[in-house]
Amino acid sequence: MSLSDEEKIAYLANLVAVSRADGSVSPNESLAIEAAQKRIGAKKTALRKADALAQSDGYIPEVVGPFSTRIGNLEDMISVSLADGVLDQAEKPVVLSFAKKVGISNEQLQLILTEVRTALRSAEATRACPSCLAKVSREAKFCPECGGSLDISDKAAAVAVEYTIPSAGIAIEFAESTASGFIDAVRKAKDAPENAECVKGTKTWYMAVWPKEQILEAAKLVEDLKGMRNRKVWVDAKESRWDEVFGFTWCSE
Ligand SMILES: [Zn+2]
Repeated sequence: MSLSDEEKIAYLANLVAVSRADGSVSPNESLAIEAAQKRIGAKKTALRKADALAQSDGYIPEVVGPFSTRIGNLEDMISVSLADGVLDQAEKPVVLSFAKKVGISNEQLQLILTEVRTALRSAEATRACPSCLAKVSREAKFCPECGGSLDISDKAAAVAVEYTIPSAGIAIEFAESTASGFIDAVRKAKDAPENAECVKGTKTWYMAVWPKEQILEAAKLVEDLKGMRNRKVWVDAKESRWDEVFGFTWCSE
């Protein structure tokens, strides 16, 4: 298969669109997309662009490349949708309308579905680690790569594709990061009166919300976010400048 860079991005965007259709992305779905990325010889940057494309307004999967590629793309879309267990009500219309664009009959589609299910069953001895996406044995209790617990189902480990910035209070958002304060930041965010996480682009984002009178509590999280680029603050759903909201903490120091 020799696809252009643009075609590889479009191919992968179709998979991302299916994975996000049911409102969350599970570790097994992410692993299935990464496997397809390697198989078609696409770089990580292509996957990042595919993520952005699939999340753009009004995105609809389109066929790319010759017929064999379109069939392969359809098979991969079905693999991704079945990766978290079932072809659910949200994923089905995406797959069906794509199959229609490929131009295959319903019988051919059923045949492909059966083939993909059979292939997945033989691969059922493995699953994706929810923490690091390593391929691990289904029997394992802990991930041999990162040591994380595997005592959680793929469905339960799925992360939402969006959250809503609340209309009142101070909402802090930040993306996963290798910065030293990140682990503490996640812990504090999860202790906030209101909190959520979601996948934007290829990164997991965290949101923590405090009522305005608890700005000092919010400021404790700010300490851990020092030097992080991917962070935002919202006051009553209005994006605000970091220094304007938290400038006072420098004074009190
Ligand atoms: Zn792991």
